[in-house]
Amino acid sequence: MARVYNFSAGPAVLPEEVLKQAAAELYEYGTTGQSVMEMSHRSKEYEAIIHECEALFRAVMSIPDNYKVLFLQGGASLQFGMVPQNLMLSGKADYAVTGQFSKKAYAEAKKFGTAVQIASSAEQNFSRIPAESEFAYSKDADYVHVCFNNTIYGTKFPFIPNTGDIPLVADMSSCILSEPIDVSRFGLIYAGAQKNIGPAGLTVVIIREDLIGKAPEGTPTMLDYKTYAENESMYNTPPTYAIYICKLVLEWIQGKGGLAGMQKHNQAKAALLYDFLDSSKLFKAPAEKGSRSMMNVTFVTGDEELDKKFVSEAKAKGFINIKGHRSVGGMRASIYNAMPMEGVEKLVAFMKEFEAANA
Ligand SMILES: *Cc1c(COP(=O)(O)O)cnc(C)c1O
Repeated sequence: MARVYNFSAGPAVLPEEVLKQAAAELYEYGTTGQSVMEMSHRSKEYEAIIHECEALFRAVMSIPDNYKVLFLQGGASLQFGMVPQNLMLSGKADYAVTGQFSKKAYAEAKKFGTAVQIASSAEQNFSRIPAESEFAYSKDADYVHVCFNNTIYGTKFPFIPNTGDIPLVADMSSCILSEPIDVSRFGLIYAGAQKNIGPAGLTVVIIREDLIGKAPEGTPTMLDYKTYAENESMYNTPPTYAIYICKLVLEWIQGKGGLAGMQKHNQAKAALLYDFLDSSKLFKAPAEKGSRSMMNVTFVTGDEELDKKFVSEAKAKGFINIKGHRSVGGMRASIYNAMPMEGVEKLVAFMKEFEAANA
């Protein structure tokens, strides 16, 4: 069987080496006589897996010692509510609205207090990240929330907002582990696993320790970061298998030169695709040059029928999930860490053929 090139925005492609290792260990993990899926999360064998996963996260992302790495469930979407539940203590928080997910996070925060929209690119159909000079920060916000990479629109923050003493919270679901990032600039980073970390069902939260334990009385146990921090993410059963796959992915990243290696690999793939789009007579990239995502590349022909034809011919050639999100239309190639260079090269070759036949 030939594997397809899967350009899905998430759940997304995983490294082939990881899938093969997982397959080899699926039936029996080491000499334990059981699959990881069957293991008690309280067993010595499983504890070694989750601890190693956390240690790898710390090593790969150079996470400072005063941060906790937490493994949760509920997706990035649960964090839209958990962040204000735990951090909106005086009742006010700033939100930059740069796409669908930040809009959802902003709407959710309004249930907890005053959420202030400090910047938005809605009028440009989210084709750009507003410059920091456009950010109208409140001086008294409990935190500032941004979506660092806008999966649907294909834009990414080209800068880390300077929020001074106010904690910066970032949804990094679709860009975590894609390049080195200075974690110390953030109060909290969260990411659903199904884009660049592993399978769906796991959410990773990286949180500065002083932000833990402030949730108001009456906060449900499972919605309090403290519960996870105090119990090594095992107050209840964590998503054990997803964490195991995450560990394999982190080992794979380490073997490829860590985040510096990933950045080089991702920059090369994105450059190939954007360079072609910028020179194409048929396709164009709606995301502004200074705001472009390295992970999600959106493009259109300008003709809906032609877009449909492209998506269907691409699928027939083994390039799947290349249709854009329903709110943007056109196409989107998500080229996460695990997408090989070869996949992008072949896609660009196919786009050239399509252009020659249809321009
Ligand atoms: C996918 C995605 C989400 C939603 O994630 P779920 O895990 O499905 O809740 C939120 N934010 C961003 C940036 C995403 O890419």
